[in-house]
Amino acid sequence: MSGDSVLLTDIGELVTNTPDDAAADDREIDSDPEGADVAALGLHRDAALIMADGVIEWIGPAARAPAADHRIDCAGAGVIPGFVDSHAHLVFAGDRAAEFAARMAGLPYAAGGIRTTVTATRAATDDELRANTARLVTELIRQGSTTFEIKSGYGLTVGDEERSLRIAAEFSAQTTFLGAHVLPPEYAEDRAGYVELVSGPMLAACRPHAAWADVFCDRGAFDAEEATTILTAAAAAGLPARVHANQLQPGPGVQVAVAVEAASADHCTYLSDDDVDALAGSRTVATVLPGAEFSTRSPYPDARRLLAAGATVALATDCNPGTSYTTSMPLCIALAVREMNMTVAEALWAATAGGAAALRRPELGRLAVGGPADLVLLAAPSYLHLAYRPGVDLIAQVWRKGRPMLREDHHGR
Ligand SMILES: [Zn+2]
Repeated sequence: MSGDSVLLTDIGELVTNTPDDAAADDREIDSDPEGADVAALGLHRDAALIMADGVIEWIGPAARAPAADHRIDCAGAGVIPGFVDSHAHLVFAGDRAAEFAARMAGLPYAAGGIRTTVTATRAATDDELRANTARLVTELIRQGSTTFEIKSGYGLTVGDEERSLRIAAEFSAQTTFLGAHVLPPEYAEDRAGYVELVSGPMLAACRPHAAWADVFCDRGAFDAEEATTILTAAAAAGLPARVHANQLQPGPGVQVAVAVEAASADHCTYLSDDDVDALAGSRTVATVLPGAEFSTRSPYPDARRLLAAGATVALATDCNPGTSYTTSMPLCIALAVREMNMTVAEALWAATAGGAAALRRPELGRLAVGGPADLVLLAAPSYLHLAYRPGVDLIAQVWRKGRPMLREDHHGR
């Protein structure tokens, strides 16, 4: 059962994130001296790629490309791996545009704004939640993301968390149980009772639809002991950890994440030297979410400090209605470059292979023979344009498992 093969040829610049393949081959590689950040991208110039049955069958110089059933001339444009958005909150109802406007007028962000969305989400029907999630998923794909994580966390009852994850699982295998997003108002006087609920009945109900568990360990949310209790229970139930850590102030989140061997510590805005060392010495990926700092007018994380220490850095949207209502990984790349001093190559790697590392799916976020055909054709000659041309739609086509996701005639192609 062999599907039609598709040849993408005349790719001006192909990013594979597979540097060994590029170096081992005698194909045309840029001879300019490259830093380690660019070398990690495994660039091929004047390249071609063949995909069939959802996987990549061949990568090499355009001049040596074998025949295929269909041929797409990329006319010198760039091709990159699809973005891997490892942090997104997509199942909710309502929006908080007025809160955003007030914040831009001078009000500070506090974690409690989440409760506004909880009220709207509880009141929504399954179909309303499903339709809103579908709309955001369409946006994500349209912006070049081929893998996206989806968290619960706006239900905060057993039933509402369970249905949030059931709906999330209709769109992604990367679903995350975030019952410990914020303390719901009905438990305001009973923190211990809510931690017990999350660690017990809520976890049991959500487990069948979830791949991960997450806790917001920060001011106004959950402390180190509560987070550890919940994440330990989740790990025992088979859900590895992710942690919202050190977004609002210095705190224990990163240390909790490393101690429970979380796949990722997310935000990492306020880090001590010990936090940076702990991340660099662990398998826990540091995921930076500059959309949140942009949308709350907060100081950005020091990504250079994490990179210099040797930590693995991922970049994600944190798409959520309160503090980062964007589905655009290109925007996050531009912010990472402009505001966090990452090179464009580092930002692209973090948005693709970095996200894959944060989801412990190393076959994603890269282009290699035998790997999934999740890729993006840019309306630009180079990945550099993702940061160089902020706010401009440069996504010409997206393939997920070899299937084109945008209209073939997009951008007049
Ligand atoms: Zn988040």
